[in-house]
Amino acid sequence: MISRYGLDLDRILDSMAGSYLQTVRYESKSDLLCPVCGGFKNPSYHDCRSCEMIAHQAHAIGLDGKLADRVACGVYATDPDSQTLKMMYGYKEPCPVSPDYRRNIQAILALAIIGHVQCLNELADLPLSGWAMVPSTRSSPRFDQEHPLHAIISGLLPNLPEIRLASRQPKQRFLDPNAFALANSADRRLLSDNVLLIDDTWVTGGTVQSAAVRLKLEGAAQVSIYCVARIANTRYLDTLGKGLTKSFMRGVRYTGGYCPWHRKVELP
Ligand SMILES: [Zn+2]
Ligand SMILES: [Zn+2]
Repeated sequence: MISRYGLDLDRILDSMAGSYLQTVRYESKSDLLCPVCGGFKNPSYHDCRSCEMIAHQAHAIGLDGKLADRVACGVYATDPDSQTLKMMYGYKEPCPVSPDYRRNIQAILALAIIGHVQCLNELADLPLSGWAMVPSTRSSPRFDQEHPLHAIISGLLPNLPEIRLASRQPKQRFLDPNAFALANSADRRLLSDNVLLIDDTWVTGGTVQSAAVRLKLEGAAQVSIYCVARIANTRYLDTLGKGLTKSFMRGVRYTGGYCPWHRKVELP
């Protein structure tokens, strides 16, 4: 169940940005949403193209069961021109054009990982033993500088130890657990229970799932992924049927009290 703090935060977030934030959902009347990641999918398939591909790749390299135990995404960032997409790119700038960008992302994260932490612990049936984030790749301009997401998470979870991942290869869209390594092998002791793996955006899921597989190969009992935003391309939705983008935009709103882990509205 959502905490008292979570309920207050949820109301504040709704009043600050509820007019444009769209809560990620995992099922729709027309069967257009992926049950794994909330992205758009063809109704003839069970999952979206990327999730199908990742599951297929995991199977092909003998890593069934090593993908994350659960995935939750906060809000949609619809491509090409949503306010949320601007926020997800803009918050990383050294001086974001809007002070709301980092504040909103911090609130979305706090709601999911503090307000709903009891829900996560119930589902995992294990406490959190540490958190990790997907590191910047060597090719990134921010490589070796503190990422704004890192500053936000460390501020929110001061008492939960961090498990540092190091990036070994440039960013790739396919599943490759060798793209990451534990930065410090002493962190292996923090993998005993449930590891919270956080990233800012989910595009195909390939990068964050690769990090999840790496954590499991190192011994993590469970991995729970949380991504602040699900980047979803409406041009793909347009190819599936006329008017689908419009009805998606009309139908998906900020949903007060929505639990990203239980995937339903929970209000006391
Ligand atoms: Zn998916
Ligand atoms: Zn909850």
